[in-house]
Amino acid sequence: MLVTGGAGFIGSHACVELLDHGYEVIVVDDYANSTPHVFARVERIAGRFVGAVYELDLRDRRALSAVFDRHSVDAVMHFAALKSVSGSLEAPVEYYDTNVGGTTALLRTMHEHGVHRLVFSSSGAVYGDAGPGLLDESAPVRPANPYAASKWLCEQILADVCRRRPEYTVLCMRYFNPAGAHPSGLLGEDPHGVPGNLVPYVAQVAVGRRERLHIFGGDYPTPDGTAIRDYIHVMDTVEAHRVALDHLSDGPGMRVFNIGLGQGSSVLDVVAVFSETCGVQVPYDIVPRRPGDVAHVVADASAVTLAWGWRPARNLADICRDAWRFQQLNPRGYAGAGRGPDSKR
Ligand code: UDP
Repeated sequence: MLVTGGAGFIGSHACVELLDHGYEVIVVDDYANSTPHVFARVERIAGRFVGAVYELDLRDRRALSAVFDRHSVDAVMHFAALKSVSGSLEAPVEYYDTNVGGTTALLRTMHEHGVHRLVFSSSGAVYGDAGPGLLDESAPVRPANPYAASKWLCEQILADVCRRRPEYTVLCMRYFNPAGAHPSGLLGEDPHGVPGNLVPYVAQVAVGRRERLHIFGGDYPTPDGTAIRDYIHVMDTVEAHRVALDHLSDGPGMRVFNIGLGQGSSVLDVVAVFSETCGVQVPYDIVPRRPGDVAHVVADASAVTLAWGWRPARNLADICRDAWRFQQLNPRGYAGAGRGPDSKR
């Protein structure tokens, strides 16, 4: 199994899940928002080694092709992408180039090597501002920022490929807001610089690494005025990906699934549940809305349960508890965590 972006937040948890279930795992990552230190942790949790790790940008097709030459890859989990909404507004071309260009380079390389099975990391962000209902997979797609648009472009490319080439099977996982951490506290979300995502920011405020949370917008048309999202535990997210692998042989074509909890939580809900579950205060200020954000994005995630019998097992309190454990055990994230004491190599 080739995992792109395997050093990142979701990718690293996916590596653990795959190793735990007997898969051989090969990783490519350019460490744009991650670190190779994570693999010692992955291997420690799984009690197995990652088969090989390559530092490369997917758009470097020669380097990527060499990986496919060296290993017998039967399927790909494609996580590698830039994922910040505000980053995408600042650098749209970089986002399209990395996310779309990375995906087309991967597809060309897969094609050259006769690999036709892909699990693609898409996003609930493709739905945009859809109002207060639950979004099922047939809801209209209205990406509200270049990040979301880049994911939607990738989906359309993948759908086209599947329409024209019957040998391809693609499972497109539109996940909503993955957060939390591995229950060991060894693996979690450790973005470079200031976290753009809510839960790691909250955890860094709680541990004293940042002073106050800025809540982006208190004037949304929601019950408490703050924006509502569907937070799903990262372990549930990667379990869904592993279950997806069992269904790559169900038949050719592309299928799209929402991966969410199906429950909306406002920013203030997240702060309250975090404070209550972890017994720690999270001081905050309400500031103007963040450009590119929308009021309400919550999944109807019943299709995946109907199709595969899989459903998430963890709630927002579990997300907060696990994120907090990771933050407490790693107040500075993975920084300085050498391969030394963590490593089994
Ligand atoms: N958010 C916030 N303060 C932060 C980070 C995020 O108020 O420091 C809000 C953001 O405006 C959104 C929600 O938290 O309403 C989730 O944001 P995140 O970036 O985690 O995910 P997104 O849904 O934007 O992909």
